[in-house]
Amino acid sequence: ALRHVTKTYNYGEPNAFTAIRDVNFVVEDIPGEGEFVAILGPSGCGKSTILRLIAGLEPQHPPTEGDVLVKGQPIKGPGADRGMVFQDYTSFDHRSVLDNVAFGPECEGVPRKQREADAERWIARVGLSVENDLQKYPHELSGGMRQRVAIARTLILRPQIILMDEPFGALDPMTRMSMQDLLVDLWREVQATVFFVTHSIEEAVYLGDRVYLMSNSPGTILEELEVEPPNRPALEMQREPKFQETVFYIRDRIAQLERER
Ligand code: ADP
Repeated sequence: ALRHVTKTYNYGEPNAFTAIRDVNFVVEDIPGEGEFVAILGPSGCGKSTILRLIAGLEPQHPPTEGDVLVKGQPIKGPGADRGMVFQDYTSFDHRSVLDNVAFGPECEGVPRKQREADAERWIARVGLSVENDLQKYPHELSGGMRQRVAIARTLILRPQIILMDEPFGALDPMTRMSMQDLLVDLWREVQATVFFVTHSIEEAVYLGDRVYLMSNSPGTILEELEVEPPNRPALEMQREPKFQETVFYIRDRIAQLERER
């Protein structure tokens, strides 16, 4: 839950800048079900600021005003209950795929055999080859493969909240669609709440149960749209008239916001 959250960077200094103002929303924790919330808006409206506030990362955390709550408790900093996937691949260059995916459990003190078995399962689950890719280093992987590693690294810790900041922004369109379908499959399995920041209206409407549309800076949530859940493959669903209608509606709203700026 975000309650009246405002973030002013460099608060009290001459270069103070208010990135988001009075942001309010609640995402219910429905047992056995996770919600997929996509956040869309003009660039610089504070989407990443919101995501990083939920992650508890500085300097976004703490908010200047208002509260960021998980299960009713104010966030104090980063925690294993919240996992984050960024656009730029965040694996360790000097660790193999296996050691990258097993990193989180290693930090938690899980014995080697157990964490490696778990990592192998997740590596397979995100569509990488246990036989061929396990001992590869990040520089030996394509962008899509590196994002698969990043997703496996996050999901192995079973976070209740998954925060994704433009995770597929650097991928080519076909890889992007197959990653979207993979994400839908995985998300059904882990039943977490996902916050997904994207510039792509199609991606937001496809992946989201809900889409938050943000205003120009300082960003606030202008509109909350309930959209159809992704229960068919991306290629199929994105061709349907109803899907297109929603995309055009949002596109017009964003174009209007850009004109107002
Ligand atoms: P979005 O993700 O929607 O593109 P951001 O949340 O990254 O937007 O940024 C919102 C605004 O806050 C931008 O104008 C950006 O320049 C500013 N901003 C982001 N991080 C910082 C920071 N650490 N210090 C000062 N200003 C920042």
